[in-house]
Amino acid sequence: MSEELYDVIILGGGPAGLTAGIYTSRQGLNTLLFEGKQLGGRAWGPHRIENYPGFPEGLTGTELTDLFIEQANKFGVEIKAETVVGLTDMGDAKMVLSRRGVYRARTVIIATGLQRRQLSIPGEQEYKGRGVSYCVICDGPFFADQIVAVVGSGKDAVEDVLRLSETAKRVYAIPGSAGYAGDLEGLEEMKERDNVEIFHGVNISSIEGGNVVSRITLENGPVAGLDVDGVFVILDSVGTADLVGDAGVETDERGCIKVDKHQRTNLDGVFAAGECVCGGSQIVVAAGEGANAGLMAFRYVRSVRK
Ligand SMILES: Cc1cc2nc3c(=O)[nH]c(=O)nc-3n(C[C@H](O)[C@H](O)[C@H](O)COP(=O)(O)OP(=O)(O)OC[C@H]3O[C@@H](n4cnc5c(N)ncnc54)[C@H](O)[C@@H]3O)c2cc1C
Repeated sequence: MSEELYDVIILGGGPAGLTAGIYTSRQGLNTLLFEGKQLGGRAWGPHRIENYPGFPEGLTGTELTDLFIEQANKFGVEIKAETVVGLTDMGDAKMVLSRRGVYRARTVIIATGLQRRQLSIPGEQEYKGRGVSYCVICDGPFFADQIVAVVGSGKDAVEDVLRLSETAKRVYAIPGSAGYAGDLEGLEEMKERDNVEIFHGVNISSIEGGNVVSRITLENGPVAGLDVDGVFVILDSVGTADLVGDAGVETDERGCIKVDKHQRTNLDGVFAAGECVCGGSQIVVAAGEGANAGLMAFRYVRSVRK
């Protein structure tokens, strides 16, 4: 076990976790951040970010998150490239278990994001960022007046079909063999939209194209395939309920961590921010919640240090 008692341990190095770290370390808190895969989180990558304030020309996810990382380093956040596998609340000290050791902190900020389910079909990985997307708010505007498919049968998929149909030329809604649950909000509205075509009971089996996506192949459908410019994969998300649940952190039925407006979980001194609380899948939202969690962690540490 590490001898050191950190003021703050942050789980996850995406926009929420890095921003929380910038706030806590800048206020003089001894801060340790764990990132198991890629610093920058889901925001990292070659995709273009056009809606993060302060960058009117836009920039790539990598360029933006490199700036987050630089700022966290500047204020002295200690970063460990390790996956956290356990969290225990011992009251005054929270125990964080990684694959390599046990660490202690006065307070913990959970910023582990959400894992999006993937289709796992040929072409999906190859065309990620070149026509395949998992976020309509982020990438929908790139497909104005174009033809897109939305794969998924849940509430988010229906909402995203409606959102895309406002700007896209045509939207193919592909719920998969199970189809839509009967009572989803927006389903009736979706059926009435002239530029929306629903393929009930049909699965998508591959995504093809040249440099960018140009076609999808269907199984059990009225047609063998469709010409499209983009494919939005809007399947369920997987929360971090298993990791945090053992510590007693409350989550909802989707696995999203429950917080109040100050990012406080039900456990004293444990905060959560970003997509793991399911507040909205945008960098600016995650960063804002991370900042709020950092400020509240500072207040908490000051109160327990007295
Ligand atoms: C292709 C794409 C394009 C996008 N475009 C935009 C856009 O244009 N504008 C916009 O605002 N948003 C965009 N987004 C969404 C944005 O990236 C997310 O909303 C944002 O990254 C969420 O931040 P987060 O910190 O909450 O979670 P994440 O970014 O998911 O970060 C969570 C981090 O926690 C780590 N982690 C999880 N569990 C553990 C563990 N047990 N131990 C250690 N580390 C752990 C993960 O590895 C991950 O790095 C896009 C996303 C994608 C994928």
